Amino acid sequence: MPSIVERIASGRALEIASRLASRTVPWRRGALVTLTYHRLLIAGNEDLHPGLATVDPDLFSLQMDELARDWNPVTLGDVLDAAAGGPSLPSRAVLVTFDDGYRDFGEVAWPIMAARGIRPTLFVVTGHATDPNRWFWWDRLHRALGRDSDTRLPRLSARVKALPHYEAMDLVNDVERESGLGPPRRRVTHDWSELRRLEAEGVDIAPHTVTHPLLHRCPPDLISGELRDSWTRISGELVRPRPAFAYPDGGFNPEVLELMGATEMEIAFTTARGGGRPGWGDPLLLPRVNVGARTDVALLRAQLAVFGGTPMRMRSEPGNRRPAYPRNCD
Ligand SMILES: [Zn+2]
Repeated sequence: MPSIVERIASGRALEIASRLASRTVPWRRGALVTLTYHRLLIAGNEDLHPGLATVDPDLFSLQMDELARDWNPVTLGDVLDAAAGGPSLPSRAVLVTFDDGYRDFGEVAWPIMAARGIRPTLFVVTGHATDPNRWFWWDRLHRALGRDSDTRLPRLSARVKALPHYEAMDLVNDVERESGLGPPRRRVTHDWSELRRLEAEGVDIAPHTVTHPLLHRCPPDLISGELRDSWTRISGELVRPRPAFAYPDGGFNPEVLELMGATEMEIAFTTARGGGRPGWGDPLLLPRVNVGARTDVALLRAQLAVFGGTPMRMRSEPGNRRPAYPRNCD
């Protein structure tokens, strides 16, 4: 569902309003706006689910120009320090995150950010880094449905997300089998050697599970294994693993939070839309702002101004573990 900001957003009016908001809305001390991207819109990936490729490289470059010029891009290390009681973040702090570890991150997005001095965070799915030919379930469904994907994928996707994990994966396997195509074999995610190079160049890398299940649909032993094994693998493969986590599809429940609390993760990101303040509220429930297909530079600027001025305190007391904000990305 579009946010209020998006509903009032249109063309020139938004351009003017966003510039005004950017200059006049006071930034809350220590506030952070974390942006979420998945894939850029580039040729050659038409066989992947288009819903996660929201921004083409030209618009992405303009968005990064905006961040570098008028905001204060911080690193995950800065955020971890602030969450641990270290120096608070500078005014207009923005963290850029990419989920899932698709290859266009290193090939297209990272060079654009590096040229502007922006150091992003990449949340990787460790099983897919180990076998980069393995596809995520939404991409497998898109491929298996072929021409029917536009009409059938939204409902099928909603069904997969609503089912217990193992039933959901059975459904994906059935659809793929019925297509007669067999499992896809094309490298779509970064492997460990590429991730090591990206890390050496300045990208912070952190876990996003082993297989990308919706954790709130998993039995406890699977949740524990996904949390533990993704961190163990990243710690073994990389020099500077970061104890920060992104919940697949933003999904969690009290059980997930309890098990997360027993890990070494110091902070974790949801997909609840908003700005956060590390060290204020629950560090395992930090909000983010998804950069969607409608997010031009003016809307991005407006969201930064609004969410940096009104960070959410997200608490995890019983009964309040799921923030009442729309989940806004896959
Ligand atoms: Zn993801």
